[in-house]
Amino acid sequence: MSMRLNGKKAFITASGQGIGKAICEKFVAENSEVYATDINEELLKNLPADRTSVLDVTHKKLLQAEIKKFNPDILVNCAGIVHAGSILDSSDDQFDFAVSLNVKSMFHAIQAVVPLMIEKKSGSIINIGSVVSSIIGAPNRFIYGVSKAAIIGLTKSVALEFVSKGIRCNCICPGTVDTPSLHQRLEDTGDYEKAMKDFVARQPMGRIGKSGEIASLAVYLASDESNFTTGQAHIIDGGWSIG
Ligand code: NAD
Repeated sequence: MSMRLNGKKAFITASGQGIGKAICEKFVAENSEVYATDINEELLKNLPADRTSVLDVTHKKLLQAEIKKFNPDILVNCAGIVHAGSILDSSDDQFDFAVSLNVKSMFHAIQAVVPLMIEKKSGSIINIGSVVSSIIGAPNRFIYGVSKAAIIGLTKSVALEFVSKGIRCNCICPGTVDTPSLHQRLEDTGDYEKAMKDFVARQPMGRIGKSGEIASLAVYLASDESNFTTGQAHIIDGGWSIG
């Protein structure tokens, strides 16, 4: 067994599938003690985590209580949903829901973990953002882009505020990644094959990313190997944002 996260306790939201699941698996493989959470109980059943719990990140009280109980060294804020549509297709309710789930949940989780990390004089916070944010725009991603841009601002604020307390806060900005919800978004277009072709064409590398590739970056950011980086938006997108 590899030991890059040996003895470190990690709390992960939305770890039932996709990127969160891959992070859970890689963290366990690196000897981290993982508390995996997700809103969907079924998805938690076959995870290799030390502890699992059903958790909706929009429930502030429960989210903060679970984090305080576990006292993690690493917090991975992975929960996020994609709203499809331009500004003209977006309602107030859709905006509020997405911002609450994608951004406000991170505010609450970090608010709970920072005092614990100050006590330990160390900690790594990893927020899953997106390259579709303040980095690039994408069609039909108005609310999504707003929410993911906010995560970069949130990351920088937390990183700056606690840099002298041994706490690091970074954001991972993936491009197009092969996850269950991506396939659903392709289905939803009504022409899966064409949509997949279009999504693949966005990357100069000519393929979409794998959730394990994102998880490898998360291992690095969670481990002491990355001790000299904080407050950054780490782009991992097959070159989508180059041009
Ligand atoms: P996914 O969308 O396939 O799965 C999302 C998971 O989140 C599910 O297990 C679901 O049960 C859980 N979830 C949904 N609502 C929740 C809530 N309120 N509380 C707790 N859990 C909840 O996974 P994914 O595509 O890997 O996305 C994970 C993160 O990565 C998201 O923040 C997403 O925006 C980001 N991301 C994904 C891609 C991509 O192409 N897949 C690209 C960039 C960023």
